[in-house]
Amino acid sequence: MAVRELTCIICPKGCALKVELDENGKVLGVTGNTCKRGAEYAEAECTNPMRTVTSTMRCSDGTVIPVKTKTPIPKANIYECMNIINKGVVTLPVHIGDVVIHNVFGSDIVVTENRE
Ligand code: SF4
Repeated sequence: MAVRELTCIICPKGCALKVELDENGKVLGVTGNTCKRGAEYAEAECTNPMRTVTSTMRCSDGTVIPVKTKTPIPKANIYECMNIINKGVVTLPVHIGDVVIHNVFGSDIVVTENRE
């Protein structure tokens, strides 16, 4: 059995979590969490870690605009996600939340700024 220590990033309280794992990486238990969300985060982090990706994309007028994944994607796919974002061009105008690339590892890429 192994114990992995994590800091919960779900809310600002930042609880110190301990995750017990068996020899196959299966989660046996979580301690240190103050609420259920911490246990869910710890389990996901040890089995399929997810991250929201933030970056910028080129626009049709030559400027850049901030973008992010609408929902977290698997951490293992971040590099490929960045490659997809880097190849894209945003056609203006756009508004916060507009999808500029669909279906990227289970999420969409959205803009986080208005641009005329
Ligand atoms: S375990 Fe719950 S209370 Fe603690 S940091 Fe995570 S979300 Fe916040």
